[in-house]
Amino acid sequence: MYFDAMEMEMDMHRSRMLIDGQSVHSLSGQTAIIRNPANQDPVGVVSVGDSRDAGLALEAAQRALPAWKESSPEMRGRLLHSGAENVLRRADEIARMLTLEVGKPLKDSRREVEAAARVLDYYAEEGRRVFGQWIQSEKGRSLVVREPIGVAVAITPWNYPVDLTSWKVGPALAAGCTMVVKPPSKAPLAATAFSLAVHEGGLPPGVLNVVHGPGSVVGAELVENPISRKISLTGETETGRWIMEHAATRIKRLSLELGGSAPFIVCPDADIESAALSCARRAFANAGQLCISVNRIYVAEEVADRFIPLLVRGAKALVVGDGQKPDVDMGPLFSQDQLERTKEHIADAVLKGAEILCGGRPPEGEEYELGYFFLPTVLDHVDHSMRVMQEETFGPVAPIMRVASIDEAISFANDSRYGLAAYIYTQDLLFGLRAAERLEAGSVCVNTVSPVDLHTPFGGWKESGLGRELSSSGIDEYLEVKHIRLGL
Ligand code: NDP
Repeated sequence: MYFDAMEMEMDMHRSRMLIDGQSVHSLSGQTAIIRNPANQDPVGVVSVGDSRDAGLALEAAQRALPAWKESSPEMRGRLLHSGAENVLRRADEIARMLTLEVGKPLKDSRREVEAAARVLDYYAEEGRRVFGQWIQSEKGRSLVVREPIGVAVAITPWNYPVDLTSWKVGPALAAGCTMVVKPPSKAPLAATAFSLAVHEGGLPPGVLNVVHGPGSVVGAELVENPISRKISLTGETETGRWIMEHAATRIKRLSLELGGSAPFIVCPDADIESAALSCARRAFANAGQLCISVNRIYVAEEVADRFIPLLVRGAKALVVGDGQKPDVDMGPLFSQDQLERTKEHIADAVLKGAEILCGGRPPEGEEYELGYFFLPTVLDHVDHSMRVMQEETFGPVAPIMRVASIDEAISFANDSRYGLAAYIYTQDLLFGLRAAERLEAGSVCVNTVSPVDLHTPFGGWKESGLGRELSSSGIDEYLEVKHIRLGL
């Protein structure tokens, strides 16, 4: 039995898998219900696959590979553009699914879907710029060419399931790889609808496949099966570590975009108003469930009493509620686990001496009772013994530590196993540049909180990951280098 009578009767999205150009159920016939984190309403029913479905998807991608890699970059580009058009045509529907399954405000979901279409358009053009080299030496002549790696796998998380899928599908397909996508189990609807729209832009069967199912089963098969040559994961550091260990058996190529704990430094000469506004935006966007969220704030002692009230004002101004309502700025957290972790980190900080300046609890009222809602929270007087400063909270918490000097702030900022993004606010650009050189992170922003740009490389240092996405670096991740020597 696939979608049973009860599931068919309910007004829900039905999400099947995409294998070899066909929309299919899982071999086991298992399904799962997807629920809205704002109220627990069932919003979708999804086919749940196992390792057999993953194997079929990989085999389909392998069959499609020879013709796809031989096709011209122009043709691949045309199909990606056509996929992007399809995504935009269905943007309202995909955005609505996204809000229903992860809780984020509808306007943010719409922006995410549009951004994903732009990624496809970008790589449709970038694929034409994969060039080689002609090298002359005493030993002969050489051609150096770049070729698609082969069958690639994309494993994605629930916080930006559409955008992050596009970061992998766009460059992989443009490079001439075929791909199997595994969306997050608890939020597969929008990512699957996005992938279907791309496929229906005219891709040959097997070029893009989607399998659903638990990471520990379906994800593991995609990683370990010898057919896959490249694994691109966005997810937790622990998942990245597991994948690295298991991909080692066959020395597979990896891109790992993992956890983060971004520091935000406020210098004595900063434009305090702008710093506080940006800090609130980056700490509470997507309810703090963002790998580049502001997680640790280091503010110079002499400006702390001006900065902190402005940050609190920014936090209190945010409207928390069901993402389907038009005036909402912050939806619920994604799950009970996220809610518990947020509460635990705040309780730990308070126990060790932190002070809650605002939030620190769920909002009150009937409309919040069934959802995973939590108020934007600002904590003062934190220190580095607290979990909020050591672990990734992935919730709407802005912990503040007052520092005696920016040297001290930079050494605290670097005292982390993560290194994804870092932010510094100062009006002295030269000082900002010198500080940026000392901060250990893949992206450092001076006087802005926007490290993600289609045209620039994005990725982490240390336990935040390996490899880069976006920009021309993003396509390099799906290419192998080949040296062809000519004995003239
Ligand atoms: P998880 O690591 O739990 O899951 C990510 C994906 O990996 C899911 O599809 C999951 O499947 C799958 N997975 C889990 N275990 C395995 C396994 N053993 N083998 C293969 N696949 C597996 O992350 P979350 O979904 O909880 O996402 C939040 C995390 O993502 C945060 O740590 C965040 O920082 C990080 N992130 C990083 C970004 C970056 O660019 N650096 C950007 C956005 C998020 P299933 O859903 O079935 O468990």
